[in-house]
Amino acid sequence: MSLAPDSSDNPALSQALRELDVILANAGVGIVFVKARTVVRCNQRYAEIYGFDSPEAAVGHSSVELYETEKEARGLGARAYPVLATGETFRGEQMMRRLSGELFWAHLTGRLINADNPADGSIWIVDDISERKLADATLVDLHAEQQLIFDHAMVGIVFLRGRRVTRCNRAFEQLFGYEPGELDGQYSRAWYLSDEDWKAAGDLCYEPLSRGDSFHAEMLLGRKDGTSIYCEVRSKAIDRSDLSRGSIWITQDITARKLAEMELVQAKAQLEALVEQRTQQLSQTVAALELKIAEQQATEARAERLALFDGLTGLPNRHLLADRASQAIDIARRSDEPLAVLFLDLDHFKNVNDTLGHRIGDSLLAQLAGRLRAAVREQDTVARMGGDEFVLVLPLTDIAGAAHLATKLMALASAPFQVEQQELTVTPSMGIAMFPTDGDDFETLCRCADAAMYRAKRDGRNAYRFFTSEMQAQSARALQLENALRRALERNQLSLHYQPQLALEADGTARIVGAEALLRWQHPELGWISPAEFIPIAEATSLILPIGEWVLGEALSQLRRWDDAGLPELSMAVNLSAVQFRHANLPELVGRVLAEVDMPAERLELELTEGAAMDDPAVAITVMNELHARGVRLSIDDFGTGYSSLSYLKKFRVSKLKIDQSFVRDLTDDAEDRAIVDAVIRMADALGLETLAEGVETEGQLAFLRRQGCRAVQGYLFSRPLPASAFVDFVRAHTPPISAYALP
Ligand code: C2E
Ligand code: MG
Ligand code: MG
Repeated sequence: MSLAPDSSDNPALSQALRELDVILANAGVGIVFVKARTVVRCNQRYAEIYGFDSPEAAVGHSSVELYETEKEARGLGARAYPVLATGETFRGEQMMRRLSGELFWAHLTGRLINADNPADGSIWIVDDISERKLADATLVDLHAEQQLIFDHAMVGIVFLRGRRVTRCNRAFEQLFGYEPGELDGQYSRAWYLSDEDWKAAGDLCYEPLSRGDSFHAEMLLGRKDGTSIYCEVRSKAIDRSDLSRGSIWITQDITARKLAEMELVQAKAQLEALVEQRTQQLSQTVAALELKIAEQQATEARAERLALFDGLTGLPNRHLLADRASQAIDIARRSDEPLAVLFLDLDHFKNVNDTLGHRIGDSLLAQLAGRLRAAVREQDTVARMGGDEFVLVLPLTDIAGAAHLATKLMALASAPFQVEQQELTVTPSMGIAMFPTDGDDFETLCRCADAAMYRAKRDGRNAYRFFTSEMQAQSARALQLENALRRALERNQLSLHYQPQLALEADGTARIVGAEALLRWQHPELGWISPAEFIPIAEATSLILPIGEWVLGEALSQLRRWDDAGLPELSMAVNLSAVQFRHANLPELVGRVLAEVDMPAERLELELTEGAAMDDPAVAITVMNELHARGVRLSIDDFGTGYSSLSYLKKFRVSKLKIDQSFVRDLTDDAEDRAIVDAVIRMADALGLETLAEGVETEGQLAFLRRQGCRAVQGYLFSRPLPASAFVDFVRAHTPPISAYALP
C-alpha cells in the first residue's frame, strides 16, 4: 500500500514519498487514514493488528466494526472529537476488536488531517498494548499478592534504607511492641539493645549484602518495653549493586526455641554433671566395695588360719589336727601300719601363768611348740589343743618308737626356757595311745591318750604312760556314770547329807554352829557313788548346773524346816563347783533361792575351791563382790591344795579358810603339815579370816588345832555326814554344847 498520492511528475517528491512509504510499511505501529468512519488507507501493521489479509483488504472497512460495540465506537468519538476539533492530538486507550472477534487493548493517537475541515478525515496510530496491559495487570496482581503476604505474614518484615524503616509489616511492629506506623522513618537502632549491638549488626551484614548473598543471624533484640527477645534475622539487599536502595529484613521470634534450646543445654549439662557425679560415686562405691572385699578376703584368710591354726604357736589347732589325724589313720589302716597318738600337758603350768603372768606363759608355750616341732619328723603332726595341752600324731610309729620319742620329749620339755631374763623349768606329763590296739578312730585314740596322760599325772607327773586296759575300764565307767548321772536328778537318786560344823569355844566345848551339805548319789545298780567320782563328771558335762541348783534349793529348804522345827539357828555351807561359779547368773540364782525359802543371806555360806577362785581371779573378785553385796558369806574349801596367791586372797571377799583334811590327817606325826597348818591359821588371822579345819578325826588333831587358835572344826571325830533326820537327832543330843569330855 502507499499512503502517498502519485507524484511521478516530481522526482524529489516521489523520492520523499517512497521513503515515507517504506517507513509506514515497516512501522511497528498501525497507521490508518479514516474518513467518514471508513478506512481509506492503512499500513501493514494496522492490517496485522486487526487481522486483515493485507492493507488493501482493510480499505473501505467501517472502523466502527473494529470496536467492541458500536456504543464504544461512538464513545471514543465523543471523547476524541473535542480534542481533535481544536487541532490537538488525541491519545487514549481503547478496547478494540479484531476481525476474529478477539478483543484487545489498543493505544490510539489521532489527529485531524485538516483541523479546519474535519470531513477531510483523520489519521490514527494504533498500538496493540494487550501484552503490556496484561503485563501491567500481572504486575498489579503480583503487587497485591505481595502486599497480602506482607500484611499477613507471621514473620516481621521491614524494608530499610539508610538504616531507616521505609516500610514494615504489622507482624514486625507487633514483634517489637509498636503501634501501627510508629516505626516508619525510625532508625533500626530502635530494636537493638545497645549502640554496640546495632553497629556490630551493620558491620556483620555489610559483606554478604554487598555480595548479593543473604545475611542470616540469630540475635538478642530489644522490644519497645525494654524486654528482650531472641530473633532469627534474614536480610537481603534490594539491589546489590546499589546498597542505597535498601534492604529487606525478615525477622522471627525464636525466644521460645532459644529458651528451650538453652534449657536443653542446661538440662544436658545438668545431666552430664549428674552422670559425672554418679560415675564418681559409683567408682567410689566400687573402690570401697573392692576394699571391703579385700578386707573381707583378708579377714576370711585370717579366720581360716585361725580356724585351722593356733594363733599363739602357729601349730595346727584341734580342727586341723582332727582332719590330719583321720587321714593318717586311714593310711595306717590301709597299709596296716602302726600309729601313735601322744598327749602332752605341762605340770602345774597354771602356776607359771598365775605367778609370772600370761605373757611369760604364752612365750614359754610358743618356745615349747618350737621344740616339739623340731623334735618330730616331717610326716608327724604337732597340734595345740589349747592351754598347755599338745597332741602329736605319729604315723609309722610302734610302741618302741613312741616310748623313744616320749623320752626325748621329756628331756626337751624339761630343759630350761629362757623367757625375758627368767630361766623357767617345767615338766611334762604324757599319755600315749596306739593304733590299732587302743582304738580304731581318732576320737577313741584321743580319749585313751588323755586317760593315759591323767594316769601319768596321778602317778606323780613328769612321766609318760601308755594306755592300758585298766584305764580302759575306768573310762568305760566314766561313760557309764555320765549316762546314769543325766537321769539321776529326775529319778530322785540324789540326796543331801549334812555334816555338823562346830565352833571351838574358849571353855573347851564345841558348839554346833552349822552344817555342810554334801551330795549323795545312790544308783539302783551301781550303788552309792562318791561325789569325788561323779562331781568331776558332772562338771565336765555341765550337769553340775542343774544339780548344783537343786543342792542349793534343797539345803536351804532343809535349813528352813530345821528353823521351823525349833533347831538353834545354824548356818548352811553349800559346795560350789568352778563351773557354777563361772556361770553368769550365779548371784541372781542364789538370791532367788534364798528368797524362795525366805532365808536371810547371812545364814548361807558358799564353799569355793581355790582352783575355782584362782582360775580367773578378776572375774572371781567380781562374782564374790556381788555375792557379798547380797550378804552371802564365802569360804575357800580345801585350802592349801591349790595355789592361792596372797595378793589375791586379800582381794577376795571370803570370810573363812577351810584347811584341807590332807594337812589335818598327819598333824600328829608330820612336822611339815603342822608348820603349814600353823602358817595358814596365822595368815588367816592376819587377814581377818576365820579358819575351819576339815577331816578332824582324832583328839590329838583337835588339841593341836585348838592350841594354834583354829576356831572351827568338822570331821568324823564329831560326826560323819548325816541324813537330815539323823542330823536333827545329833543336834538335839548335843544341845547344850558338847563338852570336850562328853565326846563319843
Ligand atoms: P569337801 O567339800 O571338802 O567335803 C568334805 C569331804 O570330806 C566330804 O566327802 C566328807 O564326807 C569328807 N569328810 C568329812 N569329815 C571327814 C573326816 O573326818 N575324815 C575323812 N577322811 N573324810 C571326811 P564327800 O562327801 O565324799 O565329798 C567329797 C567332795 O565332793 C567334797 O569335798 C566336795 O568337794 C564335793 N562335793 C560334795 N557335795 C558337793 C556338792 O553338793 N556340790 C559340789 N560342787 N561339790 C560337792
Ligand atoms: Mg566342802
Ligand atoms: Mg574340803
